[in-house]
Amino acid sequence: MDGIKLAERAIATDISGIRKVAEMIRSLKDPIDLSIGQPHFGVPESIREAAKKAIDDGMNIYTETQGIPQLVNAFQEKLEGKYDKEEIIATSAVTGGLVLSFMALLNPGDEVLISDPYFVLNKQLALLLGAKPVFYENYDYDFQMPLEKIESLITKKTKAIVICSPSNPTGAVYSPEELKALAKILDKHGIVAISDEIYELFCYDFPFVSISEFYRQKTIVLKGLSKSYAMTGWRLGYAAGPKELIQTMAKLQQFTFICAPSMVQVAALEALKVDMTPFTEDYKNKRDRIYSGLMEIGYEVIKPAGAFYILPKAPSGDGVEFVKKCIAENLLVVPGSVFSQKDTHFRISYAAPDETIERGLEVLRRIF
Ligand code: PLP
Repeated sequence: MDGIKLAERAIATDISGIRKVAEMIRSLKDPIDLSIGQPHFGVPESIREAAKKAIDDGMNIYTETQGIPQLVNAFQEKLEGKYDKEEIIATSAVTGGLVLSFMALLNPGDEVLISDPYFVLNKQLALLLGAKPVFYENYDYDFQMPLEKIESLITKKTKAIVICSPSNPTGAVYSPEELKALAKILDKHGIVAISDEIYELFCYDFPFVSISEFYRQKTIVLKGLSKSYAMTGWRLGYAAGPKELIQTMAKLQQFTFICAPSMVQVAALEALKVDMTPFTEDYKNKRDRIYSGLMEIGYEVIKPAGAFYILPKAPSGDGVEFVKKCIAENLLVVPGSVFSQKDTHFRISYAAPDETIERGLEVLRRIF
């Protein structure tokens, strides 16, 4: 029998990097796990209770495409009233927002600028749509914005740029000055900014600033509850931006996701009231510990200002080889090649108990 003829777009997506790590992990029993991209704390109780009550109250059905009106209001407030209601949409988490914004903007052959290192979904999503990911590498810029390089990569086909700040996997946070300068370049060329702000709450050294402050007219802001409230499996986020774009995303949502999960939309009303500062303070301490620990050992590493990742250079300069050594010592970290066209670094997630971080540092000291 002939094999199934898969679509080219499906074949173009490549999960070999992640699969390689998954295979290596399978052999471990009780690993020191510093690989996970989600908070280690639980969903706060009041949010869980609100979700249970919503289910019991019958919020198990489709909602408005845009999201329930109370939630749109709550998002509007969160956005400090800078957006009209038609400029906001509840999405199936930030992933949903990325899918809809990419679909709204990119034709096959269009180019989208993506940082390298990148959040892997951005590259794959571009490929899935037949668009071309064009990478602006920032290894030589301490993972900050390589402004001149970005401008040099712009062509007639460049439609959008993805900005991920605080960043997965580097933890870098872009400064207001960088974002302002970038906004000027984008404005000159009419390029849309897709601003992934999922780690907004995890910004440790200075207040978070969005590129939308400088480029409101052509920015899609994507925010989410997954990381802020440890609700990664609940699938809720929101997008805000120019009406034309958000309404196009709403149209696309109607024929793809339909709506964000209904009971989670209700629970989100509660989530938005919860103060997560104690959790983010704890993560700041974890950031300090892991950074100083790595520096003491001698790793080449940039101090991250946000998210819960750090991306040191592998001592041998070979990420996969280094991660294999870590896994042989029961430590789980992720090779940089999962997030990059290069394989020179490795990602540590410090969203873990302090004791796990200490055990991880011990192994990293031994291997170094
Ligand atoms: N954006 C970034 C930068 C991420 O790191 C992640 C998850 O790891 C996502 C988006 C996806 O988030 P969500 O759970 O909201 O789809």
